[in-house]
Amino acid sequence: MKTELPTPTFATVGVVGAGQLARMMGEASAAAAVRVSVLASSTDDCAVAACAQAIIGSARDVNALRALAQSVDVVTFDHELVDLEVLELLERDGVVLRPSPSSLRYGVDKAFQRRALAAAGIPVPRFVTVGSGDGSVVDKFLDELDGPPVVKSARGGYDGRGVAFPRARDEARSLVAAWSRDGEVVVEERLNLRGEVAQIVARSVYGDVAFYPTVATAQRDGTCVEVRSPSGVTAANETQVHELTRRLAELIKPVGVMAVEYFVTESGVTVNEVALRPHNSGHWTIEGTSASQFVQHLRAVSGQRLGEITLNAEFAVMVNVLGGDSAGSLDDARAVPGVFVHDYGKAWRPGRKLGHVTALGDEPDGPHVRAWTSARAYGTSTREA
Ligand code: ADP
Repeated sequence: MKTELPTPTFATVGVVGAGQLARMMGEASAAAAVRVSVLASSTDDCAVAACAQAIIGSARDVNALRALAQSVDVVTFDHELVDLEVLELLERDGVVLRPSPSSLRYGVDKAFQRRALAAAGIPVPRFVTVGSGDGSVVDKFLDELDGPPVVKSARGGYDGRGVAFPRARDEARSLVAAWSRDGEVVVEERLNLRGEVAQIVARSVYGDVAFYPTVATAQRDGTCVEVRSPSGVTAANETQVHELTRRLAELIKPVGVMAVEYFVTESGVTVNEVALRPHNSGHWTIEGTSASQFVQHLRAVSGQRLGEITLNAEFAVMVNVLGGDSAGSLDDARAVPGVFVHDYGKAWRPGRKLGHVTALGDEPDGPHVRAWTSARAYGTSTREA
C-alpha cells in the first residue's frame, strides 16, 4: 500500500551572510521546523555545509539579495555589514525582511543608535556624532570630558574593529578626521567599567517577547572571550537591565532576537550597543536552555510563536576559541569531560573565531575550569578571563 506523505509546510528562511551565526541557525533549523538557505560570499563560508542551500554573492548586491529572496519565504541576517538603502528598496518591492530595515538600522549605524536611544531617554555614554569636516564639534566635546574619549566608526565595525581608545587629544582629532572621510563617527566618553553584561530578547511577529537571563561578558582587546550565566551583577543592576531591554524591544520592535550589550559602572547600567541578530553572548543557550537563541530567532522570523525559555542548569560558561599561534587539537578539546565543543569549520588563522566551548553545572567553578581547559586544548590564543 502506498502511503501519501503530507506536503511539508516548512518555511524557508534565507540568511544574508554565511558565518558562524548562520551555521548555528542551520544546525537549529530542525528544532525550529524551518529550512535555512544562505547568501554566502563563497562556498568556503562556514555556514554552507550546515544549510539546505547556498547562493553565492555579496550581501550588498541587490541582484544577489533578490536571488535569495526569490527562493525563500523570509530574509534575515547574520551580520550588519549591509546596505540599508538596498534593503529598503527590496522591502518596497514586497520582500519580507525580518528584522525590518527600520529595526536593523539600530544595529547597523552606531551614530543613529546613540542619537535615537538618547532621544528616547535610554542611558548611553555622553557622545557626539561627527561628520566629515566637523572638527570644532570634536574639540568642544573633548573640552567637556574629564578623561580620554572612545572613537567609533558608525558603520562597519565588529569585534573591536572600528573602535579606538586615543590617549591624547591630537590622536583623537586625527582619528576622527581620518575615519569621518568614510562616514559618520561617534566620539564618546570612556567609562570606568565595573563590568560588561548582555541580555538577549526574542520578539515574534505578534509582538510577544521572551527574555534570556542577563549574562556577564569578558573582553580582551575589544573581543568577547568568555560569557557567564548568571551574570552575578547586583539585584538593582539586574532590574535595570531587564527594564532597559524591555524598553528597547518596545522602541526597536525587532522580529527575531536582539542582543543588548551593557556597561556596568558605579552609577548604574548604560547601553553599549544593540545587535539585531543572534549574538555571541547567547551561544551558551544552545545547551543551557530549552530553546536556544537560534531556535527562537528562526521561529520568530518564520512567523511562529516563541518557545518558553527554561534553564537546563544553574550555571553556564562559554569560552570563545580564537586562533592561537599554532592550531590546537579538536580531539583533545572534545576529550575534556562535560563540555560541548562547537567547531565552526573555519580554516585556522591567528585571532580568528574558530569555535566555542560551553560547560554547564550546579556551581560556577567547575564549568569555568572545564570550558577553559577544553578551549586551551583547542588552541585558543586568549588568557583566561
Ligand atoms: P564592537 O561593535 O566592535 O563590538 P564596541 O563598541 O562594543 O565594539 O566596543 C568594544 C569594547 O570596547 C567594549 O566591549 C568595551 O570593552 C570597550 N568600550 C567601548 N566603548 C567604551 C566606552 N565608552 N567606555 C569604555 N569602554 C568601552
